[in-house]
Amino acid sequence: MGRYLDAVCKLCRREGVKLYLKGSRCESPKCAIDRRNTPPGMHGHRRGKLSEYGMRLREKQRLKRFYGVFEKQFRRYFAIASRSPQNTGEALLSIMERRLDNVVYRLGFAPSRASARQLVSHGHFTVNGIACDIPSRLLRPNDVVAVKANRPRSLQLVKLNLQSASNPVPDFLERSSDDPPSGRLLRLPTRSDVDPHIEDIREQLIIEVSTR
Ligand code: SF4
Repeated sequence: MGRYLDAVCKLCRREGVKLYLKGSRCESPKCAIDRRNTPPGMHGHRRGKLSEYGMRLREKQRLKRFYGVFEKQFRRYFAIASRSPQNTGEALLSIMERRLDNVVYRLGFAPSRASARQLVSHGHFTVNGIACDIPSRLLRPNDVVAVKANRPRSLQLVKLNLQSASNPVPDFLERSSDDPPSGRLLRLPTRSDVDPHIEDIREQLIIEVSTR
């Protein structure tokens, strides 16, 4: 499983927009985009005009980085979306939203997607009652994600995250406040269920650059 190990704020500065990769810091005045919105590197301040191709590539990179997906996995998702009877762009966004790490984040169990990914891979969650440590797992309608009940550390951590969770639970998910906390995927996410932080993404440009 690949992992990006460099400073994540550089990714936001490269895309020129907030990607919300660091939880509460992203909303604080310490955010690198608020302080210094220039691309990283020695010549970053000379942001030139983007070519048609560059514009499409940046849109694709923005989507991948927002959801923490690398190129190989993105291609796999794109192939699945292309075969879907749905609009390819909408199907692609729906797949991203159905990833287990994204669902854990959107249920408020983790402060960011990176943190959700770590919690999942460290074995804090079950899917339909069976332990699952694969952050990229794509959930289906009626799948139930729950914190492991026999792990007090997991429960404590998730309850703490829930206390500070500020984003509302999206309509395609349902959160249960039982003990242990759990959530259910009610239906496949649609275009309007996409995270508001990336709802302005232009999926048509991503399709154009991915089918070249
Ligand atoms: Fe860093 Fe978050 Fe700001 Fe991006 S949005 S630059 S990850 S603090």
